[in-house]
Amino acid sequence: MFLLGHSCWSYLFSKTSARQLRTSVPAYLALLAGVLPDFDIYFQPLGLVHHTYTHSLLVIIPVVVLLTYFLGRFGLAFSIGILSHLLADSLVGSIPLLYPVYPGWNVGLNLGIPSLADTVLEMGAFGLVIVYALFNGDYKLVLKPSRDGLLLGIPLVAIDTLTLLFAGDRNIPLVAFAFSRKALTAITIGHILLSGILALGVLQGLIWYFRTRARSKVQAVVGPSSPGS
Ligand SMILES: [Zn+2]
Repeated sequence: MFLLGHSCWSYLFSKTSARQLRTSVPAYLALLAGVLPDFDIYFQPLGLVHHTYTHSLLVIIPVVVLLTYFLGRFGLAFSIGILSHLLADSLVGSIPLLYPVYPGWNVGLNLGIPSLADTVLEMGAFGLVIVYALFNGDYKLVLKPSRDGLLLGIPLVAIDTLTLLFAGDRNIPLVAFAFSRKALTAITIGHILLSGILALGVLQGLIWYFRTRARSKVQAVVGPSSPGS
């Protein structure tokens, strides 16, 4: 699955499990959790092969146990976002479930990527994220200045750089590839829309940052306001 689907499924899985566990996972982390297994793309120059260790339960389960042990219910909800990556990849393709012990044992439905099934799963998740964000109040991150808006820059950079690195690595002429098939065109538009929404959040974050800075400068000059002053 592409990073659009991974970030969106992760958001849905983390947010709904956090709700069940009576904790909360901020939007930027809910979007980021499911992107983390593909961070192996950053380490390819060091010899790490994409879609191996970070897509194996032998690596992910200990990570989940550690996160849950140290961070409790928040750690568990965040972990469920990470696990959604393995689930999604095993639907559209297959994952080396017990790598490196059984490196050749790949498990998955292989629905295809790109494929109609993949497009529906990715765009469907994106649509659900928008509905859910309207329902849980996260939409405000895009409309009102806040610190958390600034943090949306983290998944934004991760999604966009990983997509570019992945394409660059395979010598894929990105623009030609992205619009070459209907399924990919839809997903490309989805990526652009998601990036645009996140960038708008970052913009609100920047407005928050500069306003807070200006306010603290004024306070430093005038002094903290007190009743009667
Ligand atoms: Zn993956």
